[in-house]
Amino acid sequence: MDLKNMIREVPDFPTKGIGFKDITTLLKDQDALRYTSNRIVQEFRGKNITKVLGIESRGFILGGLLAYELNAGFVPVRKKGKLPAETLSESYQLEYGTDSIEIHRDALSPDDVVLIHDDLLATGGTTNAVLSLVKKVGVSVIYLSFICDLSFIKNEFKENLEVYKPHSLVSY
Ligand code: AMP
Repeated sequence: MDLKNMIREVPDFPTKGIGFKDITTLLKDQDALRYTSNRIVQEFRGKNITKVLGIESRGFILGGLLAYELNAGFVPVRKKGKLPAETLSESYQLEYGTDSIEIHRDALSPDDVVLIHDDLLATGGTTNAVLSLVKKVGVSVIYLSFICDLSFIKNEFKENLEVYKPHSLVSY
């Protein structure tokens, strides 16, 4: 299946110059959704993953399916102030200013095998922050999964991720 064809490109969203990769056109198609989930599951089955971390908010959609199929638990990574119990927090740089992401302090233990999932890898800033959180807990076995990778964006964040061999199905 040509997944790139299933992802709508919206020019100048949310700001001028950004080509937004809209996965809702893929998600609403029953065959494309199943195919996408199956392809990622095939890649990570047998790796003894115990927790799938979905990054708010588009990482929650496939993240839940992957956790179910891989027989793992699901952990939401959320924007600051959304999680109700005690959290671990990590700040990261945006184009202007900074943002923070959080997980519950008791969400992971060092012996977990973690799969971090988001819909899209752009600058790698968000994923690097999630990696820092996961490492803070002492987790050492970490995998990365995305539907799409904007491979034309190259920077030190993405270089940093290379050791984890980020897996993606569609490359731009
Ligand atoms: P980054 O931290 O730059 O790797 O950005 C990753 C996050 O921003 C992901 O959660 C994406 O959903 C979102 N994102 C960044 N750029 C795009 C884009 N061109 N199209 C769709 N989503 C994007």
